[in-house]
Amino acid sequence: MKPVPLLDLKAQFAPLREQITAEVLAVIESQQFVLGAQVEEFENLLVDYTGAAHAIGCASGTDALILALAACGIGEGDEVLTTPFSFFSTASCAYKVGARSVICDIDPITFNIDPDRVEDAWTPRVRALLPVHLFGQCADLDPLLEITRRHDAVLIEDAAQALGARYRCDSGHERHAGTSGTIGCYSFFPTKNLGGFGDGGALVCNDAGIADRLRQLRVHGGQQMYHHRWVGWNSRLDAIQATVLKVKLPRLDGWSAGRARNADRYDLWFAECGLVERGCVRLPQRAAHASHIFNQYTARVENRDGLREHLKAAGIGHSVYYPVPLHLQECFSELGGRAGQFPHAEQACREVLALPVYPELTEEQQRRVVDAVNGFYR
Ligand SMILES: *Cc1c(COP(=O)(O)O)cnc(C)c1O
Repeated sequence: MKPVPLLDLKAQFAPLREQITAEVLAVIESQQFVLGAQVEEFENLLVDYTGAAHAIGCASGTDALILALAACGIGEGDEVLTTPFSFFSTASCAYKVGARSVICDIDPITFNIDPDRVEDAWTPRVRALLPVHLFGQCADLDPLLEITRRHDAVLIEDAAQALGARYRCDSGHERHAGTSGTIGCYSFFPTKNLGGFGDGGALVCNDAGIADRLRQLRVHGGQQMYHHRWVGWNSRLDAIQATVLKVKLPRLDGWSAGRARNADRYDLWFAECGLVERGCVRLPQRAAHASHIFNQYTARVENRDGLREHLKAAGIGHSVYYPVPLHLQECFSELGGRAGQFPHAEQACREVLALPVYPELTEEQQRRVVDAVNGFYR
């Protein structure tokens, strides 16, 4: 039986092959590779798509987070309050600007930072709140914004997994993930919902002064070449990435809808075969306040190690995002994190399993995933 991969980028590329290769060839002919017209066009498309006032391309999602903190003046002696259940960059960015991370536990239902715990975790040195829209579902931004304003801090959104997700879609005033706080950060790493052909990232914001600073910080901290106002970075988006992303962006909502459709189908089929009722599989939950674009379909499963062995033997792609919470990473040991400190995040790390949910996944492939999971628990 052919394996079912966790993600199949070749299936996404096939129908775009001609258009992308023609446009990439045009970039090669132009011999204009870094920033330039292609990047500006992509930034304009991102403005149109998200509704943010400004978009700034950069070299990766990790860099976007670092540039965002730097542009807000976060540095030595400051703290950044964030979640323990995320990709590494969410916590490492603070250290790259000389600050530190402070951690606050998650809401076990959504896996996102729990607004009810943020106030207690706040310290006098916290100057930025950094929620993550994990797996493609927005954290509950309105209460987070309220707390941030009360403390005169900034809110920076790690929307690396969530470009295209909407917040408050229940209200008629929906906002794109990344556009509620001071700055939103996106990643175009190939496995994100909008993936380039290499590393890439972007920031969005509504403040012209911050946009201006970000544009300078990504090119060594100056407006004019060889004149440096700040010590910045080399973090530019290149023209080939921008060209690929320009072709893909108009398809993003369709892909996200395909992922949500596949997620619904898993929910239904796992329930139908009794796995939900028996507690073997606990389905990912959708919050009322947000749309979910399922960068990952992450369930909680019983006897995860056993199931993983079984899926591996059956050729079913899967992965654990994330096996170790950020407060227990070796490199952050100076934070004094200890086991048991953030029980919801630690439990999630022990239970979660991501299954294939990419939009090109066929019903037949999905049936094989469900059959394999069911076969294990039978
Ligand atoms: C992927 C990711 C990043 C980092 O993006 P890169 O482009 O890989 O540097 C940051 N935060 C989260 C939550 C991510 O998933």
